[in-house]
Amino acid sequence: MADVIASNETILVVGAGISGLTAALEAAECGKQVILLEKNPAIGGRVSQLYRYFPKLCKPACGLEINVRRLKANPRVRLITMAEVTAIDGQAGDYTVSVHIRPRFVNENCTACGACAEVVNQEIEDTFNYNMGTVKAAYLPHNAAYPQRYLLDPSLIGSPEAQAAKAVCKYDAIDLEMQDEQLQIKAGAIIWATGWKPYDAAKIQAYGYDRFENVITSVEFERMMDKYGPTGGRLLRPSDGKEARNIAFIQCAGSRDQNHLPHCSRICCMASLKQSTYLSEQYGQDSDARASIYYIDIRVIDRFEDFYRKVQADEKVHFIKSKVASVVEDSSNGDVILHGVNTEGYHRYANHHDLCVLAIGMQPSVPASKINGGIRGDSSGFIELDINNGAIFGAGCASNALDVNRAAQSATAAALYAIQTVNRVARAEQTMIGE
Ligand SMILES: Cc1cc2nc3c(=O)[nH]c(=O)nc-3n(C[C@H](O)[C@H](O)[C@H](O)COP(=O)(O)OP(=O)(O)OC[C@H]3O[C@@H](n4cnc5c(N)ncnc54)[C@H](O)[C@@H]3O)c2cc1C
Repeated sequence: MADVIASNETILVVGAGISGLTAALEAAECGKQVILLEKNPAIGGRVSQLYRYFPKLCKPACGLEINVRRLKANPRVRLITMAEVTAIDGQAGDYTVSVHIRPRFVNENCTACGACAEVVNQEIEDTFNYNMGTVKAAYLPHNAAYPQRYLLDPSLIGSPEAQAAKAVCKYDAIDLEMQDEQLQIKAGAIIWATGWKPYDAAKIQAYGYDRFENVITSVEFERMMDKYGPTGGRLLRPSDGKEARNIAFIQCAGSRDQNHLPHCSRICCMASLKQSTYLSEQYGQDSDARASIYYIDIRVIDRFEDFYRKVQADEKVHFIKSKVASVVEDSSNGDVILHGVNTEGYHRYANHHDLCVLAIGMQPSVPASKINGGIRGDSSGFIELDINNGAIFGAGCASNALDVNRAAQSATAAALYAIQTVNRVARAEQTMIGE
């Protein structure tokens, strides 16, 4: 029998990216009890994998750190990592949510000293860096992870290396007996903030992501710039480790395409404009490095327009109005060759680049139809604000492809709906007691 925790005045938040964190903290700072579930071993979601934020180009760590501080200071939020919802029963004001928690094999005693990783040789795929390398099977999720606690990959359990890791830990933090756990959570309202995932680039056959090493995605490009990333912060071509100085960005890679994602992912134009600025950061303003952005139309609005104008004024960034028809590889040197027609003048081109970055589309990481509880979503699977969804409210990129600012606004709105629901529950209970 699973443990049952919380009450129908509790707000359950699923997903601890910037949206889930925002919703949880706003609700808790209004005095509500909140349970925050995160499937990964650390919070922060995809923002923690970005190198810089547009439009100010500051480091995402700042924004996340403020939220971590708020989280640590607020006893009303209970964070449970490595946890996923398996079932939702009940209705608005009275939900029972079943949750599965995976074992971490490392307890709260961990000081993140790293001694366990030193005695482990087994490696696993580095999911934080989009599998562009490997990490030890005893690892910290990433350098700024919260909680700052190691974990052991399940594949290590039962091996002599797991025993060695336990033996070397001075803090008695390694618990090889940890098991999967089931939990039942009572909640009056649920905020679903499971965010987005990149579209599978291999499905866009014409761009050769699965065939050519020097075709990568925009999310991988972000990780390359990070000094803790797979290339130590250098823009190196995957095929031969050569510096990438002539880089093509293909917009709408998967988005606005009936064969892939019919919606506009909205962020990709700003993401590529931002990433074009990484070249001068990497190589200096006077270098020969250049970016070419192949676009259908550039979609930036409001305050982002200024950022666009600034990048446009940079003579090292070229804009080519064209839906790229195909990408092929020059087998003699690993260059990528982009074919298409520049619609400003209708010139055919076959342009050589060191590296090609696909501005990959964003899709919901959990489509509405897959959320237990009959949630209504739009045709792309983003959660809609719909009365039939009861008190399950989408927040951030679970509800649309949004930048961080708009994701936080959407999360605050979701927190308000959830607060209103649990307030109604509390009032109804008081009335019953009074009768
Ligand atoms: C290439 C690129 C660059 C970008 N750069 C910028 C930028 O510079 N500035 C900007 O404002 N925006 C940028 N964005 C957009 C930004 O990434 C999003 O706005 C942000 O990630 C939205 O946060 P979120 O919390 O809604 O979703 P996410 O970041 O996806 O977080 C969702 C969280 O939910 C968790 N989760 C998922 N499924 C489950 C589950 N079943 N159970 C429990 N937890 C779950 C995830 O592990 C994650 O922690 C960029 C996007 C792309 C594609």
